[in-house]
Order: sequence, then C-alpha cells, then structure tokens
Amino acid sequence: MLDNAKNRPDLPAEIARRRTFAIISHPDAGKTTLTEKFLLFGGAIQMAGQVRAKGEARRTRSDFMAMEKDRGISVSASAMSFDFREYRFNLVDTPGHSDFSEDTYRTLTAVDAAVMVIDGAKGVESQTQKLFEVCRMRDLPILTFCNKMDRESRDVFEIIDEIQQNLAIDVTPASWPIGVGRDFLGCYDILRDRLELMDRADRNKVAESIEINGLDDPKLAEHVPPQLLEKLREDLEMVRELMPPLDIELMAEGSLTPIWFGSAINSFGVKELMEGIARFGPEPQIQSAEPRQILPEENKVAGFVFKVQANMDPKHRDRVAFVRLASGHFQRGMKLTHVRTRKPMSITNPVMFLASDRELAEEAWAGDIIGIPNHGQLRIGDTLTEGEAIRVTGIPSFAPELLQGVRAGDPLKSKHLEKALMQFAEEGAAKVFKPSIGSGFVVGVVGQLQFEVLASRIELEYGLPVRFEPSQFASARWVNGARPAVEKFIDTNKQHIAYDHDGDIVYLTRLQWDIDRVERDYPEVRLTATKEMM
Ligand code: GDP
Repeated sequence: MLDNAKNRPDLPAEIARRRTFAIISHPDAGKTTLTEKFLLFGGAIQMAGQVRAKGEARRTRSDFMAMEKDRGISVSASAMSFDFREYRFNLVDTPGHSDFSEDTYRTLTAVDAAVMVIDGAKGVESQTQKLFEVCRMRDLPILTFCNKMDRESRDVFEIIDEIQQNLAIDVTPASWPIGVGRDFLGCYDILRDRLELMDRADRNKVAESIEINGLDDPKLAEHVPPQLLEKLREDLEMVRELMPPLDIELMAEGSLTPIWFGSAINSFGVKELMEGIARFGPEPQIQSAEPRQILPEENKVAGFVFKVQANMDPKHRDRVAFVRLASGHFQRGMKLTHVRTRKPMSITNPVMFLASDRELAEEAWAGDIIGIPNHGQLRIGDTLTEGEAIRVTGIPSFAPELLQGVRAGDPLKSKHLEKALMQFAEEGAAKVFKPSIGSGFVVGVVGQLQFEVLASRIELEYGLPVRFEPSQFASARWVNGARPAVEKFIDTNKQHIAYDHDGDIVYLTRLQWDIDRVERDYPEVRLTATKEMM
C-alpha cells in the first residue's frame, strides 16, 4: 500500500491527517498561481484571483515596500491552513524574493515536505537550486510539479534528466504529458491509470478524468489522436525501462522525487499533486531536539518559533511569533513554559491563518502552525513546552553576505536606533553587530534590498531617519572554541571583534585571507558561517 499514513498506525488520526509543507521555486515559475489553486480546491477561497494580487504586488520594488508596510497582507500569507478531502494542509509561505533567503531557510525547518515548482520551459533555475540545497540539508521529501505545460516546453526526458543531474535526486514520473504547447491535451496518470484531459476554456474547472484499463484500452484512442497516442506509448515504455518506480521510503528520505506535469493557471494537474501530498505525505515528523527528540504523538505539547513578524500594528509594538507544533494537542488558554527563560506563558489569543482570514485558534495539533502575539519574549529558535526543558535544534542563523555601517540621522537618537536594530535582529530581519572598539553598529543582511526595507521600516515604525554607509568589513564569522584560546584570540584581534544581539562573539573582516589566516594561526578557534538560534 502506498498510503504513507499507514506507516505510522500509532499516530492519532488528527495528527496523521496533517500535511505541512512549503513551495520552493524560482520567481515566476508559478508558485502564487499554484497556491491560489490549492486554496480553491481546498475550498478556502471561492474565486481564483485573491492570492494573485499579492503575487503581482511582489514584482515591483515600490509595491513590495507598500506590501511590507501593509503587514496584514504578508502575515496572513505566512501560513495557510485548508482542508483537502479528509486531510488538513498547512502551507507555509516562503518569501519570494531571493534577498530574503535566510527567512526561507528557517521556514523550511517548520515543514515536513516541499513542493518544488519548475517552469517546463526553463527547467531547474538558480533560486530553485539554492532552495533545494536547503531541503537536502534536512533530507526533506520533495514532490515536483512541472508547470506551464500548456506552453511550449522542453522535452520531458530532458527536464527529468536536468533535475537528476543538477539536483542529484532520482525522479519518477507520477504523470506523463500528452502533446506539447498548443497540442498539449493533458496527462496520463501513471499512478492510477487514468487519462486527465485539460479544459482550456474554463481555467477554474477540474480536469475531466477518464479511467483507463492499461495502455491498450481502446478508450485511449477515443480521446488521444493516433500520433500522440503512439508517442505516449513509446514514452511510457521508456519510462518503465529507465526510471525507478515510486518508492515511498526513498521519497521520505529525500533521494527520490515524484514529478507531476500540469498547468497551474489552467487548474490542470493540481488536484493530482494535492492527492500526491495527501497520499505520500509525509505526516508530521519527529523533531530533533536536545536532550531528546520530540515525537508528534506525545501527549504533551511542544513547539518552536521559526519566524517572528514585528510591528504588524505600528500603534502597538506587538509581534506575532509563528510556532510549529512538534507534538501534542494544543488548546487555547494553555499555559506553556518558555524554555529559554523558564517562564510560564499563557497562550490566550493564538491565531491560525485559514486562507486569507486570521482566526482565533481554539485548538491545534502537532504539525500545525499557530501565531502567538507577544511583546518580544518569543524569539526565533525558542521552544515552548508543558514544562520539560527541551530545546529544538537545527534552526540556523547564517552569516550575512553584505555589511554596512548605520547611523541615526539625528546623533542624539542613537539609543533609539539601538533599540530598533535589536528588535530587527531578534525578528531575524538582519544581523546587528556592535564592534568592541568605537561606537555605532554594523548591520549585515543577505541581500541589498534588505537595507532599503530596514531603513524604511526604522523610519516608519520608530520615526527615525537613518543612513546606511559603507563598512570597512565585508564578512562576519561567529567565533567558537575553548575559552582560553578564544580569549587570547580576542585580545590580539580587538579591531575585528564585535558582538551580535545575543552577545555572541563575531569576527569581522574584509578579506577571506584573514579568515584563512585565523584558521592557520589559531587551530583551537573555529570560525563559522552559521550559528544555531537559541
Ligand atoms: P511566482 O512568481 O512563482 O509566484 O509565479 P506566478 O504564479 O505569479 O506566475 C508567474 C506568471 O506565470 C504569471 O504571469 C502567471 O499567470 C503565469 N503562469 C502561472 N502558471 C501558468 C501556467 O500553467 N501556464 C502559463 N502559460 N502561464 C502560467
């Protein structure tokens, strides 16, 4: 039996029916369109087009800033829940812009699977490749959707080969396209021996589905013209000879991906993909933590913060911490322990994002994402439990790739600036380093656009005009190692030493050469480009 939930008969039904996943793709491949169709088939929105407006707003910079100011929109899109058949899908949004990749990396720590969307004419593009590497770091199962098959696309064998070569993952077709571009008719559903025909006239309609009794069924010829049918038979013969069958275990460990072909805009292939997510899952997985792992079926609730969104309402400095539940059955009003500070927290107004509306979450289960409004106590990487001191591991913080100095327009306001910067650092929007010598701050980001967004948010949310200026440093590395060695290292490199918002030691430099030199001269000191958030 292929049905993945059957592998864990011990899971409570409420947990076994949950599917928490993200979509990874290169901009323009069709993530927004696919999301919209998911919601449409999940019954969460009545009409296609509601998500679209947001997707297009992302495209231009000024609109993007406007969207960032309009926090409500981006937040409601951060995690969406909807039902599909007897399943509950939780779709966690990965920010589209490549400048926000760090946020994306952390988002991927909160999901059990990823849907990789590629454009049938373009194949594996750079951003897909980058995001895929992150999924690989976590051995996330990947389901692939090859989109835009209604247009001229590349040869299917070539696309599959490219995925296998570039991403080093085996591919097994779950469906097979019939015809290309204008002649694209639909797909042969390999998993269920069905013919799915695309309706070009009605983009929101589910495709016609015809049950087929193997490739020799005369019904095929009634719907598929002879040349295309011949090609389909040849192709499928080759698929059978050359490609591995769908093996759930290999998929679960991330070494094999099933691929569906379709056209999101024509609502074609989307249902089959959703069925794939439902059937092959996986269900909520075991969470790595210290000193022990967390199993989803444990009675007690445990969860961790993977994203913080601040100042959703500029009048109240509130924030929403997005928590992925790792175990148990959460009920509103529960008192949980904030493990980092050991303080109890009553969770009285948690929210869940059901499509475009925020709703009070009366209950939630392992696998779900809830938003917890708070005043800054909850930080990325924090764990909440019913009392046990467990810490979820594996939520990384990456060394920024761009550094700049920052100064308040009004020098008397530098305390305010510090407060604003610390808040953004806690939110994970930037790295903030305080050099051990001199005044001022060095801000580090992954993409240039983030400086502009930060400047605009500091001005908007704190009424503080700021100036970013070139920094003498270009790279940052966290400093680890045995105490005496690290202290000696700090003493002799003071002009390079800074502290991040957690007080951890950071080595700032201009040259890779410096980093190599440290590694040579201080064998007991380790410089790292990531640190675990805690
Ligand atoms: P995103 O940047 O990945 O979110 O991509 P969008 O969903 O915004 O889609 C990018 C563009 O491709 C838009 O103009 C869509 O209308 C178009 N698009 C999406 N899916 C399809 C498809 O199946 N076929 C065709 N021809 N165009 C599509």
